[in-house]
Amino acid sequence: MPTIERTSETELLAAALRSARDTKLLELDRGARHRTAAAFTSLFGAATAIVVGDEQTCEIAGRDVLDSLRAAGVPTVDPLILPAEKLYAEYSFVDQIREHLKTVDAVPISLGAGSINDLVKLAAHQVERPYLSVATAASMDGYTAYGASITYRGSKQTFDCPAPKGVVADLDVIAAAPPSMNASGYADLAAKCPAGADWILADFLGEEPISQFPWDAVQSRLREWMANPAGVQTGDFETIRRLTIALMMSGFAMQSALSSRPASGAEHQFSHLWDMEGHTHNGYAPSHGFKVGIGSLASIALYEAFARQPIESLDVERIADQWPEAMDNDAEIATLFAHDELKQKAYEESRAKLVSRDAVRVQLAKLKAGWPELSRRLQAQLVPHGELRDMLAAAGAPTFSEEIGIDRDRLRRSYRQAYHIRRRFTILDVVRRAGLMEPALDDAFSSTN
Ligand SMILES: [Zn+2]
Repeated sequence: MPTIERTSETELLAAALRSARDTKLLELDRGARHRTAAAFTSLFGAATAIVVGDEQTCEIAGRDVLDSLRAAGVPTVDPLILPAEKLYAEYSFVDQIREHLKTVDAVPISLGAGSINDLVKLAAHQVERPYLSVATAASMDGYTAYGASITYRGSKQTFDCPAPKGVVADLDVIAAAPPSMNASGYADLAAKCPAGADWILADFLGEEPISQFPWDAVQSRLREWMANPAGVQTGDFETIRRLTIALMMSGFAMQSALSSRPASGAEHQFSHLWDMEGHTHNGYAPSHGFKVGIGSLASIALYEAFARQPIESLDVERIADQWPEAMDNDAEIATLFAHDELKQKAYEESRAKLVSRDAVRVQLAKLKAGWPELSRRLQAQLVPHGELRDMLAAAGAPTFSEEIGIDRDRLRRSYRQAYHIRRRFTILDVVRRAGLMEPALDDAFSSTN
């Protein structure tokens, strides 16, 4: 796998494309929407195209995309235009798109951001067709990612399906998107900071080794890509360009790993939890990025509080002896979750990672002995809580959980719940195995206000 530390961004993207399983083309430039036809024909030859968007995205870029296709002689059928109001990544929309696709012999072009891209990604896969994605905002990192994140029967799930064959990202369109959408993307990018720290932990403690290419793709320039958050708010072209590249790279990393591990850790579990609970604020579900931004601050607050605990003097034997047996773990889940489906999910995921007391003993000994080195690596990886809060605020993303309708008590409960809903090994697992969840949370909640 190529090392990408010092290569230019063009080379970076080229290397990502070479390593990608599904995506063969990325047209990322100003005015790229006018070149949709060239992208389409280079991937799908003489196939017919069908644009799938919503009222807003079709209004913004639909005409230019269709003009490009028609001017180049690409056969098209009428676009499928979904209502913009209340459109979200929910399975009934996948049904609708899939059933429509069955009636036409055409390759879909998704025209939109996170929701539309994920809906078309899954619907196209279900009718065994590839698709092209035309991105309209830098609002999340899913364009180039494997899998679609869709709410199914009330709970958010990731469906396996290939990434698009190609992505057209017109920077003029993206820079003109509502600032809150690009602020969401910035927060989804900032999440790579604690997500990377979680992977370092998982690697160090023998749970999940770091794989070099996905790691480099996300992390090697992360600080550079996160610089100038204020430019996200103002739609500064260079900032938006960097943000778009960064999010595409993150998607490529997931595509290459066939897992969201390179881009998602505990901070995403907060967001998934709130999704599964059907959380809304002022009648709407807060954006993915806004939730993971709050999750990132929550995760970093826990990292910082954990680092203030006496880790090098942990009584490993005593703590390991208190590690819950399966029955106690189940009992805790029963009291933590009210919603039945969520409870089932928690049983499934939490049981899958419930290790023996011996395993906890071995891991804690490793943590204790390796802490001086490990804590240095984590400190280098993490942006301090206060700094990240300022950066998110400058980008226009929320920085207090109350801003997305999560009060302090619920946030605190969310730490314990987020642990159970996913088997992925993160800071939540380390703090819990070290028997320090309550003291660390006491500390975190008294030092971040
Ligand atoms: Zn994300």
